[in-house]
Amino acid sequence: MTSLFCPKCGKDTDIFYDNVCRQCFTGNKKLLECPAVLYSRLCPACGSVFKRGKWSLKEEESETIIDCVKNALKLEKQARNIELTLSPKQLDYSRYNVHIDAKAEINGAPIAASQDAEVRISWETCDTCSRISGGYFEGIVQIRADSRIPTKDELERCRSIADDVAARAQEKGDRLAFIAKTEKLEEGADLYVGSIKLGKQICRAVIDVFGGKFSESPKLVGQKNGEDLYRITFALRLPEFVRGDIISADDRVIEVQSCGKHVSGTDLETGKRFIENFNDLKVGDRIEAFKVEEVRRTLGDVAAEGK
Ligand SMILES: [Zn+2]
Ligand SMILES: [Zn+2]
Repeated sequence: MTSLFCPKCGKDTDIFYDNVCRQCFTGNKKLLECPAVLYSRLCPACGSVFKRGKWSLKEEESETIIDCVKNALKLEKQARNIELTLSPKQLDYSRYNVHIDAKAEINGAPIAASQDAEVRISWETCDTCSRISGGYFEGIVQIRADSRIPTKDELERCRSIADDVAARAQEKGDRLAFIAKTEKLEEGADLYVGSIKLGKQICRAVIDVFGGKFSESPKLVGQKNGEDLYRITFALRLPEFVRGDIISADDRVIEVQSCGKHVSGTDLETGKRFIENFNDLKVGDRIEAFKVEEVRRTLGDVAAEGK
């Protein structure tokens, strides 16, 4: 039996890769290449991260670090069945060490490599935060109510609806979906929003919950690159009546369920469901909510007497 040996190193072997033994074959292949020091840009104010040429929403910091290494490392083009393990370890506030382990096959020959890389965080104010601190806004959502002043509870709920809408838009990558500031006023509140789109989304979401309506009015504020620059004021009006209010309308007494384009509720005299277009309704004086029980009792008495 002929004994086989590697023509390069002379070692006995039965398996050849490109006519040499495994060590000789993989010895001149570089499975893994990665710069020793890498930089990742993060916003110290909101945690946004600069990735693939743009700022995006905050994520788990270790995920950012791993991504930074993954984007920078290069693997041998012929490598197949790659197993990559990245283990980040925080060194201090702004530095991570990432241990990289790679296993793969090249032309069927198993090969492994490992390396350490250091990721340094460079803290930079993101596009959104620099806009906010520069006083940038594109619209004002004026929260008011028809013929009354919005309650503290309504204003808080509007604000939380607005925050939810902004967060959802941010998750979808809208960097201008921020609420720059809130001004509390005697007659309601003003929300300064980063984009016209967000202003509109907030108005719609509030109306979905409370009913009411909104209108937009643009105001020319200057020019940018030769184009007119507008800000939009959104006049958001919560409905005059809210759930639980008792109103007299069309000579009927209604307990309001909701009030938007339509007023819906219960006719307290008949117990039947009531729904009417708000604008078609002759709405009488609003009966204060605390009189509900009294109204019920009176109506009950009337009904009992009528029997
Ligand atoms: Zn060899
Ligand atoms: Zn930021």
